[in-house]
Amino acid sequence: MRVLVPWAKQEVVGIVYGERQKPVEEGITIREVIAVLDTMPVVTKEQIALWEWIAAYYMCPIGEVMTTALPARVNDKGYSFSPVIKRRAKLPEYSGEIEDIHALDQQQQQAFNAIHAQWQSHETVLLHGVTSSGKTEVYMHLIQEQLEANKQVLYLVPEIALTTQLTDRLQRVFGDKVIVYHSRISDGVRAEIYRQQLYPNAKLLVGARSAAFLPFVNLGLVIVDEEHEPSYKQQEPAPRYHARSVAIMLAQQYKAKVLLGTATPSVESYYNAETGKYGLVTMSERFASLQLPKITLIDLQRQYHRKEMYGHFSDPLVTRIREELAQEKQVILFQNRRGYAPMMACSDCGTAPKCINCDVPMTLHLRDHRLTCHYCGYSIPMPLQCPNCGGTMKVHGFGTERLEDEVQQLFPTARVMRMDLDSTAKKSAYQDIINAFGRHEVDILIGTQMVTKGLHFDDVSLVAVLNADQLFNQPDFRCYERAFQMLEQVSGRAGRKGQQGEVIIQTFDPSNPLFADLSEHDYSLFYRQQIAERKAFNYIPFCRMITVILRHRNEERVKLASSNLQARLQQVFGKRCSVVIEPFVARIQNLYIRTIQLRIEAKANYARAKQMLQEQVDYILSLPDCKNVLVLMDVDPQ
Ligand code: ADP
Ligand code: ZN
Repeated sequence: MRVLVPWAKQEVVGIVYGERQKPVEEGITIREVIAVLDTMPVVTKEQIALWEWIAAYYMCPIGEVMTTALPARVNDKGYSFSPVIKRRAKLPEYSGEIEDIHALDQQQQQAFNAIHAQWQSHETVLLHGVTSSGKTEVYMHLIQEQLEANKQVLYLVPEIALTTQLTDRLQRVFGDKVIVYHSRISDGVRAEIYRQQLYPNAKLLVGARSAAFLPFVNLGLVIVDEEHEPSYKQQEPAPRYHARSVAIMLAQQYKAKVLLGTATPSVESYYNAETGKYGLVTMSERFASLQLPKITLIDLQRQYHRKEMYGHFSDPLVTRIREELAQEKQVILFQNRRGYAPMMACSDCGTAPKCINCDVPMTLHLRDHRLTCHYCGYSIPMPLQCPNCGGTMKVHGFGTERLEDEVQQLFPTARVMRMDLDSTAKKSAYQDIINAFGRHEVDILIGTQMVTKGLHFDDVSLVAVLNADQLFNQPDFRCYERAFQMLEQVSGRAGRKGQQGEVIIQTFDPSNPLFADLSEHDYSLFYRQQIAERKAFNYIPFCRMITVILRHRNEERVKLASSNLQARLQQVFGKRCSVVIEPFVARIQNLYIRTIQLRIEAKANYARAKQMLQEQVDYILSLPDCKNVLVLMDVDPQ
């Protein structure tokens, strides 16, 4: 239950976690609770157990887990959980437009049966189904079963704001049994959903990662859709948890089943399936015998050499877009960078304006004539000449805004829209763009990774990736995996209504083996090669990783603390401990950053390793020289 307690000179709301008569340390006084706010428990014992697990596993205080887990309104002493109260937030209502659930086709029925068979011996099953194989239809049949048996279902999606096509469909089939929980709904509605979850009711809860923190009473099934998505991992603030792991723990508490679904499994999950920890079910054909798209590679080096480029469009790409537009088809253009250009620099002295708070060049946003930092949001008016020497400023690279301008010049009669963080900042903007594109009021949609996510449009025949190289030129052992996933997902948007779609990929490196796997749509080939590399260089899943992040305003201090800590960790962990790493962006929001990485053998005692790590961190923080350095743990970093 919640209680009101004195805290310094204030009164704050807390949750009763345990009881203590004597102080832990001398000099600490125990004070009395001012008032008990609830008449019934508002946090279940399963939630507390889950918080304890998260705090221990992700190395953070349980209080931080609680802050993430509870809706803000619950911290308000005036908020009441009692069911009889007048001013309760109303949950959104749905149109009556009811649809029947589709009958499963043969492949889906087989998958459905296989999932049940696998659940006999595994709690977690991985459903690997190519794009448009109809995974959602399989989920819906599994959900229906649970609801009929009066069980709750949790359906996790990476970013709920990007899944309106999905939630609309679920609501048309399951009506008011569907509850959508995400960050854009009001605090009042969130608290009300939380409250209703305390009672047994057979509902389908659809939400982003934080939905796993809601109370459950009779949970029967957890679906983690697009399980490979990195956004399931919370980065900031703590707890830096992975929603897939939390979902699996949550399901265990209720002896519920877990289904992980994706067209491009994470290497970790596929490895778990291969080694028998998870069950594996595969759907290798698209629904209604639709073919997977044809992949065409364009060698940018050759195109530039022959001067057959129009801005960032190669000659063959321009031709193909023209042909598609002439046939009244739709085109999606993918460039995973927003803004006009990622950098502006002086053509005489080379000066590139950097953010005052962060060590990065600022991105040009030509629409609002500003340079903006994508790390902290700091922005300045676009400089007309070099602030250093007065020379001419030139733009480097390209983002979605620049593509939009080029498209308008190349295809002046085409109707064009852009979908990225900037163009969807307003509440209904995302939905408006999707609707307009869905009604074919737009011919060309330009977008960042937002366009890769689970969208289905009937008239899209061509998808183009303007620069694929940028996806794997990243200092991260997962960048190949991410590039494959992103390219396979974006190509999944092409081809509908019985016609094979086409994906055109522009690259300076067409002989990269990744493209061969992609052209065959052969995940297992890609996986084989990845897992061999991971094994050879001892990366996940053959080890577990913890990144220790140190931050401080003073660069000398963070350097000192990190080299001290590294020296001690090296003594304890030997070659499992990396050197001190200066990250690619080494200062964000005025904090200098250093990291140290630990790689622990997959079979070793992870809890013990964390304990040893914590001891060294505590010691370093007790040194006067290292005081106030912020030390954060990222367990299983993404
Ligand atoms: P996935 O999630 O595997 O990418 P979806 O479940 O979204 O694929 O299905 C792709 C498309 O095929 C959707 O438009 C869906 O309505 C349609 N579809 C899939 N299975 C069926 C079915 N059994 N009956 C009718 N339509 C289906
Ligand atoms: Zn900044």
